[in-house]
Amino acid sequence: MVWDREKVKLMFEILSKSYDIIPEEYVSLWAYLTYKDPFKVLVATILSQSSTDKAALKSFRKLDESLGIEPSKLSKAKLEDIIKAIEESGLQNQKARAIKKLAEIAKEIDLEKILKEGIDSARKKLIELPKVGYKTADVLLATFGMPVIPIDTHVERVVKRLGIVRSEAKYEEIRMKLEEIIPDQYRHKIHLLLIAHGRAICKAKTPLCSKCALYDLCEYPKKLK
Ligand code: SF4
Repeated sequence: MVWDREKVKLMFEILSKSYDIIPEEYVSLWAYLTYKDPFKVLVATILSQSSTDKAALKSFRKLDESLGIEPSKLSKAKLEDIIKAIEESGLQNQKARAIKKLAEIAKEIDLEKILKEGIDSARKKLIELPKVGYKTADVLLATFGMPVIPIDTHVERVVKRLGIVRSEAKYEEIRMKLEEIIPDQYRHKIHLLLIAHGRAICKAKTPLCSKCALYDLCEYPKKLK
């Protein structure tokens, strides 16, 4: 069965019944719900790069308690102090440099205004910021209610195994295919649900197909037969 809007709706219903979305397990969402501040959400998302959301959340809290996550404070903070506060999230040297630079830039630009410019314009401007690629930009846009689907490592793995996109597909191809078949109102939730599914069942090394609620919809077990 080809992946179309009907099949996606079925997947959405199954995943919605299988997982609760707990904000603490998604650091960007948690930062959004707690502060509604794009700078803080960007910092949270940078901390989550190549890290777990749990470690990123710990680093976020430590950074906030020790230095304060505000452009005026982080732009003046010593790099070593930022590094120390965020070390739990890993890649702390790179991330600290990016966060400090981002703080300097955020004093000059209005992130909220950029978000209001619409998806294409905002995305273009966001990816010029330090350590902000398409995924991080899309997380910010989705978190602030725009109908985009950020493709993180879990989302990519799961949609490839499900057969929604070809296994060689890169970021933009995956995003465009998903946006073609997923209605606006489901996009952010599906992103979160696919992450939950990737963490719990469709694991990177060994997917737990025999326990998977999406088994009948998925291409992967059929390929193994
Ligand atoms: S059936 Fe297996 S490969 Fe397919 S989504 Fe479920 S766990 Fe992943």
